[in-house]
Amino acid sequence: SSLPASQVRRTFLDFFRDKHRHQVVPSASVRPIGDPSLLFVNAGMNQFKPVFLGTVDPRSPMASYRRVVNSQRCVRAGGKHNDLDDVGRDVYHHTFFEMLGNWSFGDYFKEEACWMAWSLLTEHYGIPADRLYVSYFGGDAASGLLADEETRHIWLDLGVPPTRILPFGLKDNFWEMGDTGPCGPCTEIHYDHVGGRDAAGLVNTDNPEVVEIWNLVFIQYNREVDHSLRLLPQFSVDTGMGLERLVSVLQGKRSNYDTDLFTPLLDAIHQRSGAGPYSGRTGKADEGHVDRAYRVIADHIRTLSVCIADGIHPGMSGAELVLRRILRRAVRFCIEVLKAPQGALASLVPTVVHILGDAYPDLAREADRIIDVINENEAHFLSSLQHGSRLIQRTFRRMEITGSPFPASVAWSLHRDLGFPLDLVNLMLEERGVQVDHQELDRLISKNQKMLSEQQAGVRPRLLPDILSLAELQRSGVPHTDDTLKYRYRLE
Ligand code: ATP
Ligand code: MG
Ligand code: MG
Ligand code: MG
Repeated sequence: SSLPASQVRRTFLDFFRDKHRHQVVPSASVRPIGDPSLLFVNAGMNQFKPVFLGTVDPRSPMASYRRVVNSQRCVRAGGKHNDLDDVGRDVYHHTFFEMLGNWSFGDYFKEEACWMAWSLLTEHYGIPADRLYVSYFGGDAASGLLADEETRHIWLDLGVPPTRILPFGLKDNFWEMGDTGPCGPCTEIHYDHVGGRDAAGLVNTDNPEVVEIWNLVFIQYNREVDHSLRLLPQFSVDTGMGLERLVSVLQGKRSNYDTDLFTPLLDAIHQRSGAGPYSGRTGKADEGHVDRAYRVIADHIRTLSVCIADGIHPGMSGAELVLRRILRRAVRFCIEVLKAPQGALASLVPTVVHILGDAYPDLAREADRIIDVINENEAHFLSSLQHGSRLIQRTFRRMEITGSPFPASVAWSLHRDLGFPLDLVNLMLEERGVQVDHQELDRLISKNQKMLSEQQAGVRPRLLPDILSLAELQRSGVPHTDDTLKYRYRLE
């Protein structure tokens, strides 16, 4: 009876195209093209950066853009916008998500943007206005930026009660794409999943009951390399609404994972796993972190599928290293927490294609290749995973006797010699209620960084920072020390 996600997406595009003369443009690849300031495309506006800045090639089709609308695939797993650590812990941050957006390039500005957003949400999607809160930029004295009173008045004129119009500072209401780039004050729309109360105090507090759904940014500046703000020649509107969050609202679910964008995946994971079904628990209630594992895997397989389809492969630097980390986390949750067999992760790809295939036809075309890449990378990691888990267990047994904290040297070895992403090591320890000695670990990391920069300066390479497996190391021809090998043999 509720609106399927594919229709939620469709309704958004149709509203701006048919009612407000926007041109529908396709999603760009998640791999940023010609923008070294980004690891992944993290917002719908990325591809329009030259339009905002007024540097667009006059022969490009973008030169004629005034009003456009799209649904952009986004990845937030590195750089300024990095949500990797939240994924699985909460029910509304993903590493891959779709951002619905509409833009005005020197055309309409604040008033029309707010009015269109409000009308779409309350009239077309039928969200009760008394579940919504709006925020606006409250100014920042230190940077000499004034409060956006204009926007506050626009919301009042639209009939939003003053108690639901809330000022926030730079962190929440001044949007920036990265360290540099187009930016400006923003106004956001938040939804109270509970209702029948005053929830103003919960806005922007990371409370799952009141979730930010739509951001309307008034692009007026460019953040320069020296961190100053340069006023742009024309003002633009850049909006972004998370499809998964909107769908959860419209399907009456508290969690994005309970919508049709995720339930087929959770079912497919259950079929392959040796664990009970997904039950939606979070935090302490989620014993053994089984539900978290479900969420992480469902999230990560979407990210892996989309990134590989767009040509980002698990690898050794930049976005590729991030993707490798995501793959290894997913493999580990599949095998160790959900007790799924080798190959289970890749076998979820057809379900991802089923869910996202009509929006992103490349996925179906690339499905076989995506499956191969995931299986190949999983196979590389498996023996390390076994060694690593045994090493952790042995260390735990030793710790029970001595009662000491988890040694940083062991965490570092897991990372350096067995290719465990450090965030994965942390997760595995956290599951046992143990913390690594972070100070000592930081010391080891900076020692390694120093060594790497010496290598770049021409000193003979001694260690590979993040080794996949002994066989791979030997095949790679990368110089390595005997210590690395000795360590491996000691494990075997
Ligand atoms: P949050 O405060 O919840 O982390 P944000 O302020 O970082 O969100 P924006 O940069 O304003 O998000 O992005 C615009 C919209 O994209 C958000 O209002 C939200 O609906 C959606 N969004 C942002 N990050 C994520 C994510 N990691 N997963 C799913 N949707 C997201
Ligand atoms: Mg965020
Ligand atoms: Mg926010
Ligand atoms: Mg925001």
